[in-house]
Amino acid sequence: MLVIGTPHLKSIVDAAEKAWPEEACGLLVGRTGPGAAWRIDRVEPAANVADDPRRRFEVDPGVRIGLERELRGADQAVVGVYHSHPGGPARPSATDRAMIFEPHLAWLITAVRGGQAVHTAAWMPIPDGFRPIPIVEKD
Ligand SMILES: [Zn+2]
Repeated sequence: MLVIGTPHLKSIVDAAEKAWPEEACGLLVGRTGPGAAWRIDRVEPAANVADDPRRRFEVDPGVRIGLERELRGADQAVVGVYHSHPGGPARPSATDRAMIFEPHLAWLITAVRGGQAVHTAAWMPIPDGFRPIPIVEKD
């Protein structure tokens, strides 16, 4: 389960539409609980620095480094990553499966068609790919 506030979810959807036809991306800050639970308290957008941003994403490493520095000693951490699929479904692609370097991070993927966000889904890495996790929206 991934708990996220409605304004945070909206900011991800807005970023996905704004970046279209390229992929938007950013980091999710919050806490993890027992039993595959994530609570997102903050959404940190990042530039997509991939060489082909219409087909893949790479979070600006400076954003990650800055966040880790800021969160040192805090009770929050980088617990997830989000990106969009311009013209694709809200599920991980083969490229995404090849990019699981941190199995503790939750993934949020927003599908965008024609500049319009149509669906957002959450995923957790498992040994051979991803498994869907329910999104619980809170005000
Ligand atoms: Zn993807």
